[in-house]
Amino acid sequence: MRILVVEDEAALADALARGLRKAAHAVDVAPTLAGARTKLALEEYDAMVLDLGLPDGSGLTLARELREAGSRMSILVLTARDTIPDRVRGLDHGADDYLVKPFALEELLARLRALERRAPELRPTELVVADLRIDPAARNARRGGREIPLTTTEYALLEFLARNAGTVLGRAQISAHVWDENYDPLSNLIDVYVARLRKKVDLPGLTPLLHTVRGAGYTLDPQRDTA
Ligand code: CA
Repeated sequence: MRILVVEDEAALADALARGLRKAAHAVDVAPTLAGARTKLALEEYDAMVLDLGLPDGSGLTLARELREAGSRMSILVLTARDTIPDRVRGLDHGADDYLVKPFALEELLARLRALERRAPELRPTELVVADLRIDPAARNARRGGREIPLTTTEYALLEFLARNAGTVLGRAQISAHVWDENYDPLSNLIDVYVARLRKKVDLPGLTPLLHTVRGAGYTLDPQRDTA
């Protein structure tokens, strides 16, 4: 997932970004509401980890704005306050879940996984493309029953391609969901990763799933002819 962390405590924001990246997410950080609004205008996020006490206002304002604009992004609110009125107010304003500081990173990851599962039409528990099966909770992929050894980024790329199986994805779309804002659009990183992934997923003798569409991008599609 591509996740926006809105948190003004630098040490906590850093720890969250590191932990989330380790769990194969692409992460951007904003320390203020204004910074978050700028990033949200530029990028598409799947989920947001939102602190309530920010230097330029309450995270709840942002959650409400997003819901009013029709956003269905998962929003996990972080708060130092654990009182019932706060909790109710947060959920009224569009937050999906709450986490009271201090919390363990494992707890945050578990909550995010639960939010992923809560939107089954967007995030099925298992992704199946022909004989390729991906388990987002366990972050593993198997083909013909055999586990495919993948690095964190390779896994994230494969999961994104599988979620959009049959659709041709451009490099900008891929980088927006798999890499963070430090991705250099002029680099050939995506091509390098796709090539590595192809070697691991499309072993000799298997139906090729991963295709390059000249001038357009890449697609994971068992029906497509190899060109
Ligand atoms: Ca804060």
